[in-house]
Order: sequence, then structure tokens, then C-alpha cells
Amino acid sequence: MVLERIELFLLDMDGTFYLGDSLLPGALDFVETVRNQKKRFLFLTNNSSKDNKQYVAKLRRLGVNVELDDVFTSGEATAIFTKQRYGSARVFIIGTQSLVQTFEDHGHTVTKTDPQVVILGYDTQINYEKLSLGCLFIRKGLDYIATHPDINCPSPEGPLPDAGSFIALIEKSTGRKPDFVVGKPNPLMLQMIVQKTGVRPEHIAMVGDRLYTDMEFANRSGILSILVLSGETDSQDLEKVERKPDIVLQNIGELALLLKR
Ligand SMILES: [Mg+2]
Repeated sequence: MVLERIELFLLDMDGTFYLGDSLLPGALDFVETVRNQKKRFLFLTNNSSKDNKQYVAKLRRLGVNVELDDVFTSGEATAIFTKQRYGSARVFIIGTQSLVQTFEDHGHTVTKTDPQVVILGYDTQINYEKLSLGCLFIRKGLDYIATHPDINCPSPEGPLPDAGSFIALIEKSTGRKPDFVVGKPNPLMLQMIVQKTGVRPEHIAMVGDRLYTDMEFANRSGILSILVLSGETDSQDLEKVERKPDIVLQNIGELALLLKR
């Protein structure tokens, strides 16, 4: 079976592992099974409004024992990408305080005066000053990097405007799109994961609930794609896409059962 060669499971969180504040069926069984089989998992999220510490706190609250190294966010990936491309840079950030902290932790200087690069994340603390300054810098021609492209973020009340919606607003004002969008589906994150974990792509699978980020990321990265129907995608959406995921399951619990077979 194709799953036998997988050593590392990349896990989307919302809609795949939990929904809002509840674990999805079989989530704990999956974690236990993967650990028993001496395989690994890494939570991979595009949501750059929170950092590793906040995700680890949430997962622990839900009863999942994880460490900081078990979570990789598009915010951290963007801080690493910025470092690779510019070295320690002076950055202007439209993002949350935790994204600012992530950049500082990676040796960048966050500034409103004379930045080299503009970074856009999922800013749940956005205000007019950040938006206007960011647009002025982008209009001047500074490099402009977004952490991820998601248009909406799921919430119990319904979809909320995410980084992709801010990208659209900035494009309307300045006429510019980001020079780079780092998060899923960009295969950049896979290169970083290979470096971080030492696991080769043929031994990595992506488990997620979204076709245009999670499954597209797997396709572009050339890794095994596993779609779960516990989140955004239903079987009708699936019929419409040309390239079907390698494996389609109702939820992550089914994946645990397959692994135990
Ligand atoms: Mg999801």
C-alpha cells in the first residue's frame, strides 16, 4: 500500500484535525497511531495571525500533546524566506503582534521608517494606519510579500476576510499584486520542511480539506495528496476538479484505521 512509504504526514488544522474548538473524529487515534508506528506529523497552516506557541497551546487544550517543532505556519515560512532572500531585513508588517514577534525572532527589524520589504499576513488587528503606510510603501516599489493567499478564514459564524481579501484591497489601491506568496500552495514550504525534517518528498504526504491550497500544494510539490471531507470540500466539489487527490477519506480517523490495517 502506498501509505507504507509515508514517514511524515503534513496536517492541515482547521477542517482536517479540528473544527473551531472541537477535534474531528479520530484525530487523537491518528496521533497515537502515527507515533506508535514511529512515523511523524507536522501541523502545517496558512493562518499567519497566530504563531507556534498559540497553536501548541490550543492543541494541548484539546488534549493533543505537541511541541513547538510540531507546528509550521506560513508566517514562520515567510520569515525564513525573507532571510534567505534578503538576509536580516528591515520589514514593514501588516500583520498581528505574533507575526511581528516571529520576524524579530528570525533576526529581522520591524520598522515603519525606511523598510526594504512589505510583509502582509492575516492581520486580525488591522487598522487604517497599517493599511495606508503599507500601500504607500508598495506604491513606491518596495518588494511585497504575502504569507498566504486564502481569501476567507473559516469561523463558526461563517467565512471571515483573510489575507487574500487584503491582497485584493491593496491591488485595488496600488495596482500591485504580491511579488511572492509563500504559504500553501507554493511548494517553497515543502523545501523548507525537507530541510527542517530531513525527510525526502517521496516519504511525505499532505492531509487537508481544501482543494486549492492543501491538495494543490501536494500536486505542485509532488507529494502524496490525502483529502478529508470533514471540512470545506464535499463530494460535489471533488467531481468538478480535473486532478483528483490520491486518497479521499471522510475524516482523519479513517486514515488512522488505514494505517493500522
Ligand atoms: Mg483547512
